[in-house]
Amino acid sequence: MKPFVVHDARFAARLIGHVNLEKLATGCRWAEGPAYFAAGRYLVWSDIPNDRIMRLDETDGSVSVFRQPSQNSNGNTTDRQGRLISCEHLTRRVTRTEHDGSITVLADAFEGKRFNSPNDVVVKSDDSVWFSDPTYGIDSDYEGLMATSEIGRSNVYRLDPATGALAAVITDRVQPNGLAFSPDERILYVADTGRSHIRDLPVTITAYQVNPDGRSLGASSTFATCTDGFFDGFRCDIHGNIWTSAGENVFCFAADGTHIGTIPIGEIVANVCFGGPRRNRLYICGQTSLYSIYLNTRAAV
Ligand code: MG
Repeated sequence: MKPFVVHDARFAARLIGHVNLEKLATGCRWAEGPAYFAAGRYLVWSDIPNDRIMRLDETDGSVSVFRQPSQNSNGNTTDRQGRLISCEHLTRRVTRTEHDGSITVLADAFEGKRFNSPNDVVVKSDDSVWFSDPTYGIDSDYEGLMATSEIGRSNVYRLDPATGALAAVITDRVQPNGLAFSPDERILYVADTGRSHIRDLPVTITAYQVNPDGRSLGASSTFATCTDGFFDGFRCDIHGNIWTSAGENVFCFAADGTHIGTIPIGEIVANVCFGGPRRNRLYICGQTSLYSIYLNTRAAV
């Protein structure tokens, strides 16, 4: 079976015809949060219910446990200095793993109230950390510890690590989840998986205009509506395409919102990220397993 379904010629241009989907690791309960470390040529990802962060060594393909316990970590990313930024469900915080291995808490509360359970995170070129805070880590004891939301809403926040300033930048979503900036950082895309709590709510990615100050958001519009399961996590490539989880697939959307192609995975996909020395390898976290596929494109950052 071909690993691609082409809906639009723009997707065909991003493919390498003889390349196959590779399965790299398995044995997870809910794989999420892939993040690539270029200097060390390794990938980490979360296995949320198993309370661990896994590590794939890209040089020899070996897989090991990077951190356990992981505080039921979920989304991960690297900042502009190559440090690991993690969203932790159990401890309801966002942390940074320093170059010496110590862990710094970046934020754990908004206006004196604990976060719900930070889910996914992205770092902008000005070093600010943007993260979503839905309730999945406090909805049950499976991916965290069941609790009532103190904030009473699921927001997206912007944190300035230099000053500690924290702002709620999106307050109009039900369950904001994955997020990514367009290559020029003029748009912030945010998935909403609120259908998990509100039946028949459309599963969407919304595009928010970033204001000229680079810190706040303006007008928003629906960028894409999911036709199969949920959008969860996603990344942008240099062409402005969005590669997103969608049910048991990766969907690719052009910057104009057209669904241009599909990569069937065969189990529920949670998140993706680009890696490899040339950032042309898409790593894919399926429910139990880690996959990858080489593409004719590169990470936006
Ligand atoms: Mg997520």
